[in-house]
Amino acid sequence: MSSPGLVVVGAGLAGVAACESARREGYTEPITLLGAESYLPYDRPPLSKELLLGEAAPTIPALRERDRFEELDIDVWTDAPALGLDTQSRIVTTGRGDLPYRHLVIACGASSRELPGTAGVSGIHTLRTYADAEAIWKRLQSPARVVVIGAGFIGAEVASAARSYGHPVTIVEAAPAPLTRSLGVEGGALCAELHARNGTELVLGVGVAEVMTDTSGQAVRAIRLTDGRTLDADLVVVGIGAVPSTEWLADSEIALNSIDGGIECDATLAVLTNSGDPIEGIWAGGDVAHWPNALFDRRMRLEHWASASEQGALAARNAVAVSPAHTYTAVPYFWSDWYGTRLQFVGTSHADELLVQHRVDKTGGTVVLYRSGTRLTGVLTIGRPDLIMKYRRFVVQADSWCAGVDFGADRCR
Ligand code: FAD
Repeated sequence: MSSPGLVVVGAGLAGVAACESARREGYTEPITLLGAESYLPYDRPPLSKELLLGEAAPTIPALRERDRFEELDIDVWTDAPALGLDTQSRIVTTGRGDLPYRHLVIACGASSRELPGTAGVSGIHTLRTYADAEAIWKRLQSPARVVVIGAGFIGAEVASAARSYGHPVTIVEAAPAPLTRSLGVEGGALCAELHARNGTELVLGVGVAEVMTDTSGQAVRAIRLTDGRTLDADLVVVGIGAVPSTEWLADSEIALNSIDGGIECDATLAVLTNSGDPIEGIWAGGDVAHWPNALFDRRMRLEHWASASEQGALAARNAVAVSPAHTYTAVPYFWSDWYGTRLQFVGTSHADELLVQHRVDKTGGTVVLYRSGTRLTGVLTIGRPDLIMKYRRFVVQADSWCAGVDFGADRCR
């Protein structure tokens, strides 16, 4: 009887990276990639960018062609969500029956947080999947008053796409500034200038009091805000964050983060029990995983493309390799595109002492440096894609603040 091999739960970016990495390691046992959606694995960043902007009907931004999975002998199961996990018997329960594993990589990502009470109301969307993007694209093709709830990156990209069609757009954000968690107050405020320059109204420090529907109660007509204002709306996109997709693990011995339900891992991405012990044969990576990032001396869960790909690959390598497990460290990196301008961030904005320095140089770009003690811990660039990776080396160094400032001073005159 053949070995049950490697099972990867989650046919997204981290899951694909995991499968490919195992084969690169010379793994010859069966690999099964379990996906909850109906499609082969696809890429998410284009969903809120090119795909919404396109004049032609959208197509799925596939991560790999079907041939690639055949070539690597990876058995991809679509429409097959994992429903439960028995770590003693090493069995994943799926809608298509039980699947035994020898090694398991959990890469099931996250799903959009919903606005309570809006299920089934037409005109209200979240954006995480291809189906979400396709529905929003369709609605953008005819005149629409657009309200975006949440001024995060995805909300901002949707607003930017809607403005490109000439639609009036209002973003509603409960916090006093956008993107405070990712960029700090000043960094978020600098990004928000792009909204003002491109005709998007930004309403800050106000929540949603009520979603108002038509007389049938089926379609959104307006949003009433907590300050009493009412915004007419034909299309509402809710961008209030994502929640790790771990409901299926609730009865397992896997430790789930008490705040967001993400999977607790050690520094090698081995999955932990509630007592902090690694569970044999199980690893995790991508948006679902919390792990201690030694470069910043803190536990993190990132929702960034680059780290999802790297973590998926390392989780599988550690799962199947005979050599000792490698630890995962990362300088977090993400990008976002608003109104034709690229925003990029390396490092972390979580600093003991935060100091923001920005310069608007002759190219119109902006650079924001984040300081923690004597170290440059994060850099935000707006419209300076040529610089961001050059700053990365300072972010990993101790005592790098002065060197980072000098580097920026030379380049941002
Ligand atoms: P996912 O991509 O969420 O994939 C997980 C997969 O697992 C999903 O297909 C899901 O259906 C499946 N799954 C869930 N539960 C189960 C289950 N029980 N059984 C089986 N399968 C399951 N990052 C950037 O750095 N820059 C960007 O510009 C950017 N833009 C983005 C735009 C959008 C619209 C979105 C949604 C994300 C964006 N990101 C961006 C973030 C980036 O795409 C994610 O960090 C990355 O996709 C995470 O990959 P993942 O494989 O961990 O999770």
